[in-house]
This record gives sequence, structure tokens and C-alpha cells, in this order.
Amino acid sequence: KHLGKNRWNVYRPDRDSSREMASRLVWNDRIAQALEQDLLLLHFQGVYHAGDGRLAHLEALIRMRDEAGSGQLIMPADFIVPAEKSGKILEIDRWVIRQCIQLLAGHPQLPAIAINISGRSFDDPELPAWIGNQLLRHRVAPQRLLVELTETAAISDMGDAARFIAALRQTGCPICLDDFGTGFASFAYLKNLQADVLKIDGMFIRDLPQEPDNQVFVRAIIEVAHGMGKLAVAEFVEDAATLEMLRQMGVDMVQGYHLDRPRADHPALTVAVAD
Ligand code: C2E
Ligand code: MG
Ligand code: MG
Ligand code: MG
Repeated sequence: KHLGKNRWNVYRPDRDSSREMASRLVWNDRIAQALEQDLLLLHFQGVYHAGDGRLAHLEALIRMRDEAGSGQLIMPADFIVPAEKSGKILEIDRWVIRQCIQLLAGHPQLPAIAINISGRSFDDPELPAWIGNQLLRHRVAPQRLLVELTETAAISDMGDAARFIAALRQTGCPICLDDFGTGFASFAYLKNLQADVLKIDGMFIRDLPQEPDNQVFVRAIIEVAHGMGKLAVAEFVEDAATLEMLRQMGVDMVQGYHLDRPRADHPALTVAVAD
């Protein structure tokens, strides 16, 4: 189904090595268990205004507790792809949205929160309306929930992505194209995908001061974003020199280990919750 409509594929077990199959089954179980036993949790990382360093919003990043109770967290790089393959990602995405809306509803002083949604969720035509209903039910202003979609996912399924984004815009949530620059979005695509924010992929940002080619790309992306009335964010800002260069280039917002690391008890959260 992820290949788009009006396509079909013959399932060929011989193509799936038995090892891959076994690991897929293990992940299916672990994800189902995590959803049932409350083993998922969110870490939060700040996204800051480049100009004055004020917090703009928080990005929610998912982790999974290890069921054995080792205290070790399982990172999304390990379970998001298996969850996308099994379709469990649709439940995970809704879990994240529910958590964040509840958090926002309970704490009006909290800054906006950005969530990540899998490209698989484009297959879930009811999701945008469901988000709108959740926001309404909890009386959360849609501007407080930013939705990040990866550029690659959007391009691999342009029709569904454009429809999904259009529906999402109806709810009033700002939309961000994540990992921008890795998916070869043409200008025509960019016109179709009505995003408010372009988040420049970290691969162009790390080592920015040492990489003249990346400086050219980053400047160009910022110019395109601004020319189209969008904001540009840089992720993976790991040192002061990179931050300074991005400021000079006119980037709007910055995120990265130089500013803070994702964590469950982000100060912006604890302050708001303690109030
Ligand atoms: P992303 O949305 O592009 O998130 C940025 C990733 O870079 C995060 O990894 C973050 O912890 C990491 N990061 C932030 N600052 C720095 C930095 O300065 N240097 C370096 N090297 N890394 C930095 P994380 O949390 O492991 O998430 C990885 C990806 O998993 C995310 O990429 C996103 O695509 C996906 N993901 C995370 N949470 C969710 C979720 O709730 N739902 C879905 N569907 N996907 C998620
Ligand atoms: Mg993101
Ligand atoms: Mg990203
Ligand atoms: Mg990424």
C-alpha cells in the first residue's frame, strides 16, 4: 500500500530472509506490548529563536522502555521502521498526539509542541480530522501543535501527502517539512506541499563551518523558505561556531545539542507544570 494506489505486489516469501522475518515478528510483539503496558515515553528538545535565543517550541521525540526493566531506552531509529512495516506506527502516532494534546490542555503556559508523524500516516485519511477533534475536545489552540512530516515521505507519495497536508491545514496546525534537503524536493513539489516551516536536515548543519558546499545549500534553502513566506529551522546545531554562522545566514530557529539535549524533564516543561 505504501507504493501508492492502483498498484499491487506479489508477496514472495523467498525475498524475505528468515532472519528478517523473525526480527520483524519480535518487533511486532515488542511494539504491541509497549502500547499495552505503557512502555512508551516522550523526551522533549527545545527549538529556539536564532535571533534572541528565546524558546520557540519543544519537539517531542519518542522512546521505548525496555520491558525487562534495564532502564535502557530504545531509540526511534530501532523501532520506527519496524513499526512502519507492521502498520503499528499508526497507533504510535496517535498515542504521541494524544499525549501532547493532553499535556498542552493541562498546562496553558507550556510553549507549543512539535510532533513527528510517519509518512505511513498519509494512509490514514481520518487522522487530520481526528487531530482536529482532539484539539477541540481538549480546547487546545491548533497553533500550539506543530506537525513535522519528513520530506522524503512526502515525496514518495506526493498525491496522498498533498491531500493529507491540505486536510491538516484545515485543522489549523502549523506544518513543518522535516529533514529538508535530503529528498530532492523540486520547487513544484514545494508549491504543492503547503508547509509553514522547512527544517534543514542535520547532515547539512553538522560541520557547517568546515563545509563550504553545505554553506551554499543552507543559504539557498533559507532563501527559498523566506521567498515562499516560510520559516527555516536548522537541526543538529552542535557548537557555537555553527550557531553563529546560521544566525548570519538569517535562519529563523535552531535546535541541537549545543542548545539542549532531548530529555523527559525539559526545564520548560517542569517550570510550566510546577506553576
Ligand atoms: P527528527 O525528527 O529529524 O529528530 C531529530 C533527531 O536528531 C532526534 O533523534 C534528536 O534526538 C537528534 N538530535 C537533536 N539534536 C541533535 C544534535 O545536535 N546532534 C545530533 N547528532 N543529533 C541531534 P531521535 O530522537 O533519535 O529521533 C530520530 C528520528 O525518529 C526523528 O528524526 C523522527 O524522524 C523519528 N521520530 C522521533 N520521535 C517520533 C515520533 O514520536 N513519531 C514518529 N513517527 N517518528 C518519530
Ligand atoms: Mg522532527
Ligand atoms: Mg529532522
Ligand atoms: Mg531525522
